[in-house]
Amino acid sequence: MEKIIDENKQGDSLVLNQNKDNQRKLYIESYGCQMNFSDSEIVASILAKEGFNTTQQMEEADLVLVNTCSIREKAEQTVRKRLEHFNAVKRINPKMKVGVLGCMAERLKSKFLEEEKIVDMVVGPDAYKDLPNLVAEVDEGRDAVNVILSKEETYGDVAPVRLNSNGVSAFVSITRGCDNMCTFCVVPFTRGRERSRDPQSIIEEINDLWERGFREVTLLGQNVDSYLWYGGGLKKDFDKASDMQKATAVNFAGLLDMAATAQPKMRFRFSTSNPQDMTLDVIEAMAKHDNICKYIHLPVQSGSDRILKAMNRLHTRQEYFELIDNIKRIIPDCAISQDMIAGFPTETEEDHQDTLSLMEYVKYDFGFMFAYSERPGTMAARKMDDDVPEDVKKRRLTEIINMQQKHSLYRTQQHIGKVEEVLIEGPSKKSDAHWMGRNTQNTVVVFPKENYKVGEFVNVRIDECTSATLIGEAVGYSDNN
Ligand code: SF4
Repeated sequence: MEKIIDENKQGDSLVLNQNKDNQRKLYIESYGCQMNFSDSEIVASILAKEGFNTTQQMEEADLVLVNTCSIREKAEQTVRKRLEHFNAVKRINPKMKVGVLGCMAERLKSKFLEEEKIVDMVVGPDAYKDLPNLVAEVDEGRDAVNVILSKEETYGDVAPVRLNSNGVSAFVSITRGCDNMCTFCVVPFTRGRERSRDPQSIIEEINDLWERGFREVTLLGQNVDSYLWYGGGLKKDFDKASDMQKATAVNFAGLLDMAATAQPKMRFRFSTSNPQDMTLDVIEAMAKHDNICKYIHLPVQSGSDRILKAMNRLHTRQEYFELIDNIKRIIPDCAISQDMIAGFPTETEEDHQDTLSLMEYVKYDFGFMFAYSERPGTMAARKMDDDVPEDVKKRRLTEIINMQQKHSLYRTQQHIGKVEEVLIEGPSKKSDAHWMGRNTQNTVVVFPKENYKVGEFVNVRIDECTSATLIGEAVGYSDNN
């Protein structure tokens, strides 16, 4: 593999690892969560061994793949629009093949081929190792489908090809699938049962990233807190494990400890957590290691006990407060972000007020907030009417977003006058004379470039802020550099 500097449409310089002997071109577009972007790097690696190099120019591609998201109706509409666009290009370049990957492929399966004439291949999130066979079928003019979900597959033995990489921060997946059956969520149906990856293969990937100049790793999973390795078995079967397996099992706190110790100068983040599975030892592991960032993404979805129950979220409002209190007690400056759903079936004004008062209690640093979107096949879609009127959903969502905006500014203002360690990721989107990076709390920091470089740890004095960005001036290198 050789390093090639290329540019995407936005003009960002990208580090691509290409094999100069490869003759075919792969164009891959990813939508949805970080897991999908990480999976696309697995796909690029598997196809690199089949003679494909990735290209940023879709028009010149032999194979166009879309890694799809199914979390909301809008996400699927976006994919359909892209397929129409590819259809237009395919008329000019008939040898081009199109495939859909990810959660929408898993949800629709072969129906996709019937619905979308443009699609030649449908591949589910656990079937990427079958891509060489599927591409061969398509090359022979046949449609190809593999949407079999697996209880073992973690792609732990596939070295990802970093796509759209800034060469500084990278994702490393640690679990796949999810066993929680939140009633609004398609993930358990599109990504299957929860399974954890061998910690050795995770540490090897982290060490390899360090050698290649990366300075930050985000450990990824639908639900990282339920990470549990005891030799390859599923978490739900742990009670049947041998005493030796139980004694040597590695849970998420153990994995954080291993990673932070293996590369003490590498920064570590993780996503996504689930309040019902997060344990004190994870928070203590974060406090113990300076190189584990002081930020937790902790979706709650609603502040009402009645709605949490209807969502099958296995914690109460009070238990969530206790977790927040423990986080703030053990790591006082820990930043916390949320996911929130407005207008879940049967949600009353009182439930909505519970959500607002929970937000007032936590004062999140930022959040991802959406109106409820019924997903086919989920428990909520099967058992509950989507009965909250659209205008009510919209009004409640606006109130949630406005409150978050107020709290985000309150949180960023706490940083003014402080000196923060920042890892430089690249140029600021707004000014070429400025670098952007993030502090340990995952807040974006912008400051003049001077002689500092991408990938360096710099101490920045914060002079001003917006609700999303801290603005300051570098005052020297951090000891971590
Ligand atoms: S924890 Fe719930 S919301 Fe998150 S992926 Fe699993 S089922 Fe979906």
